[in-house]
Amino acid sequence: MPTTHFSGTLIIGAGPSGLMAADILSKAGVAVRIYEAMPTPGRKFLMAGRGGLNITHSEALDAFVQRYGDHSSLLKPLLNRFGPNDIINWMDELEQPSFIGSSGRVFPKVMKAAPLLRAWLTRLNQQGVELLTRHRWVDWDDQGGFHIESPEGPQIITADQIILATGGGSWKKLGSDGQWVNLLQRQGIQINPLVASNCGFTCEWSNVLRKQHAGTPIKGAVLKSQHSEKKGDLILTHYGLEGGLIYAFSAEIRHALSLNQSAKLTLDLMPDIELAQLIKRIEKPRGRNSFSNHLRKAGIASVKAALVRESYPEIVNDDPFAWAEALKNCPITLTGMRPIDEAISTAGGVPFSELNNDFRLKKKPTVFCAGEMIDWDAPTGGYLLTACFSIGVHIAEAIISSNSEKSKMHSSKT
Ligand SMILES: Cc1cc2nc3c(=O)[nH]c(=O)nc-3n(C[C@H](O)[C@H](O)[C@H](O)COP(=O)(O)OP(=O)(O)OC[C@H]3O[C@@H](n4cnc5c(N)ncnc54)[C@H](O)[C@@H]3O)c2cc1C
Repeated sequence: MPTTHFSGTLIIGAGPSGLMAADILSKAGVAVRIYEAMPTPGRKFLMAGRGGLNITHSEALDAFVQRYGDHSSLLKPLLNRFGPNDIINWMDELEQPSFIGSSGRVFPKVMKAAPLLRAWLTRLNQQGVELLTRHRWVDWDDQGGFHIESPEGPQIITADQIILATGGGSWKKLGSDGQWVNLLQRQGIQINPLVASNCGFTCEWSNVLRKQHAGTPIKGAVLKSQHSEKKGDLILTHYGLEGGLIYAFSAEIRHALSLNQSAKLTLDLMPDIELAQLIKRIEKPRGRNSFSNHLRKAGIASVKAALVRESYPEIVNDDPFAWAEALKNCPITLTGMRPIDEAISTAGGVPFSELNNDFRLKKKPTVFCAGEMIDWDAPTGGYLLTACFSIGVHIAEAIISSNSEKSKMHSSKT
């Protein structure tokens, strides 16, 4: 089969990272073609918007950058160049205004991702971006040809630059199936195993707890590990725990599980009240109320009381001190992670050691990697999308500046 060459930038994957690179490149007049395996683009982006698209966060940039943990210093220059405020301005340009929620998180005013994606695709189309769906990258040959399967049949293509923006390895049905891992490994590129992040964890709950409380939110708790403590909400599920608060501990719990097969954390279920005050509240006479009702009337949700009974089966009713202590220090033992496909995001992927500063593969200098397929990790809260956008901008600007260097050299020779 003959190989065709595309004079411009070929992007594989129409998620937030690939689309942002396409936006910047096409605005600068670079020819851009996108190949997307699914019948429509941005499926995970749309899914992210299902319960409200938390696109970024309004906290100070210094604090924002720290959310990327070990990768903060690598991502800092990118986030300085295109960070939360730039995302808000970019949405305004697309006539999709945003608002800052009470927690500092930023959402589009309409909450959903669909209107934003629609406006974005319209602009890309006006800027001349060619978006070809049902075009799946399936192989990478030793001559640098990218093998594509499409309804028109197979083809082999090369391009001036190729940006891989094929996503992580969760929610496979939305397109990011991690198949690219093998394709890169076969080119001698080291890939760190994809692992679940921002995911649920399993706990060996009793049948009673499961039956009475599965699906119940645990609001305003503080979760403490050996290294940190954070406040937020959880959901007790039939298999364990879900929710932003436990997701924020994903990396630490994953590490503990790999060492010990279990991870022990502590919940302060009543963080807004001091121990002494809590004791006073519980020791008030309960009259004819059952003890459970008495706790509920004292502002202690029944799921919180049930968690205490689960961890302290011997606890005696009407012992205010024991109850207050247990509510402030309720141990939980996590025994495993939920499957990777259920995770909000994945860590692992292309390590920074395989990339140059402009996110070009050291071993394949015309090929760049963008977005979640790179091995960085971040909690939910808009940090995932922000980094994907920011990396897309960074790569696009690197290509634009290298194209302009080349054309300067070319014109000085002629
Ligand atoms: C349920 C859910 C909720 C989320 N909520 C939020 C949130 O509120 N805030 C936030 O910041 N993040 C959120 N995220 C995470 C965020 O959506 C992702 O981090 C982000 O979409 C990753 O962008 P990406 O461009 O790297 O990859 P993706 O969005 O995964 O896009 C990759 C694209 O590449 C295509 N592709 C893959 N392989 C090939 C191939 N071989 N050939 C051609 N095309 C291919 C895929 O079909 C896909 O369209 C959420 C994720 C999920 C699952």
